[in-house]
Amino acid sequence: MDFRPSEEQEILRRTVREFAESEMRPHVMEWDEAQHFPMELLPKLAELGLMGVQLDEQYGGAGMSAVDYCICIEELARVCPAIALSVAAHNGLCSSHIAMFGSEAQKQRYLPRLVKGEVLGAWCLTEAAAGSDAAAMRTTATRQGECWVINGSKQFITHGTIGGVMVVMAVTDRTKAHRGISAFVVDQGTAGMRPGKKENKLGMRASDTSEVVFQDCRVPQAQMLGEEGQGFINTLQVLDAGRIGIAALSVGLAQGAFEAARNYAKERRQFGQPIASFQAIQWKLADAATRIESARLLTYRAAYLRDQGQRMTRESAMAKLYASETAVRVADDCVQIHGGYGFVKDYPAEKYFRDVKLLTIGEGTSEIQRLVIARQLLGQ
Ligand SMILES: Cc1cc2nc3c(=O)[nH]c(=O)nc-3n(C[C@H](O)[C@H](O)[C@H](O)COP(=O)(O)OP(=O)(O)OC[C@H]3O[C@@H](n4cnc5c(N)ncnc54)[C@H](O)[C@@H]3O)c2cc1C
Repeated sequence: MDFRPSEEQEILRRTVREFAESEMRPHVMEWDEAQHFPMELLPKLAELGLMGVQLDEQYGGAGMSAVDYCICIEELARVCPAIALSVAAHNGLCSSHIAMFGSEAQKQRYLPRLVKGEVLGAWCLTEAAAGSDAAAMRTTATRQGECWVINGSKQFITHGTIGGVMVVMAVTDRTKAHRGISAFVVDQGTAGMRPGKKENKLGMRASDTSEVVFQDCRVPQAQMLGEEGQGFINTLQVLDAGRIGIAALSVGLAQGAFEAARNYAKERRQFGQPIASFQAIQWKLADAATRIESARLLTYRAAYLRDQGQRMTRESAMAKLYASETAVRVADDCVQIHGGYGFVKDYPAEKYFRDVKLLTIGEGTSEIQRLVIARQLLGQ
């Protein structure tokens, strides 16, 4: 067992941190208030390999490990969780689904554009009436000759408005329940697919979230991703890995909030001394640092298992559950340590507090993570 990061990983962390500090930090509040995703950031993210972190070099990807991916997402989330969320959805859901289950032709066609940041990837599973119970989806794809015709609507899709490539899950055979769901890859601009309502969100506001509507959207057979009827089963595998990304995002957000709280506690004086000298504040900081370290270890362990090609359903769910709930606590304490200044937009505490809540909801709620863990423990 070796807990040391490699020299390359130290350099990677420093590089992404410097990028986030210089290219993101100055604009974080402006993007948040305008609910604006900065498309101009894409070529810069791509230059660092962050638009295709784990993709093979033959498609232009950076070919990094799952542990390296965690380091990248952590460092982006430490500064702007919303941008980290978009990068995670692009890498960990859309591109990952194509890389894991796409045909060689699909990989050649889509991955290089996703890696270069020419397009943002979106991944469309959730529907208005099918969230945690995603297999209850109503969107259908009906075969017509050599094509499939998609009808329905997807809810809460990251990059639903600005995504250039969408992976879409739809029912192709209602009689087979979750074994009757297939995946398709659909280009923005395909007739019959359009963005619906853009969500006005509590947090993660720079990350675009919207409905995506399909009305007689015709795609050729060549756009089916993976085997017919395997879309939902493949989705569960994509989510196993995707959850490691959300765990890393949680660790990064918690780290950012912790650092903000620690710095403030050393500067803020009450009763003639820095508030950091009060034991009540010290214990909050000590608890936060301990929980963040535990969350980081769980996250890296799940990523390590993925790198070894081992199954990590239980470990990724544990990492996501613990890291996201830790982040919620740390962001809460960060506001508390800031007192009234934690409640106003001049300090970063309030934004961490708003952004963090998504992490116990997206890519499977905390309740669903517990369900996944329990099923694994009970061998169900
Ligand atoms: C900002 C944002 C971005 C998102 N991005 C994407 C995306 O890119 N692609 C995508 O497909 N989806 C995306 N989602 C959707 C997200 O994955 C879902 O919101 C999430 O899975 C929960 O589904 P739901 O909102 O319908 O909640 P519901 O499933 O209705 O859950 C409501 C409550 O009931 C609980 N609950 C449900 N079932 C059970 C059960 N069996 N046992 C115990 N408790 C249960 C839940 O835990 C929750 O507390 C995004 C959501 C948001 C807010």
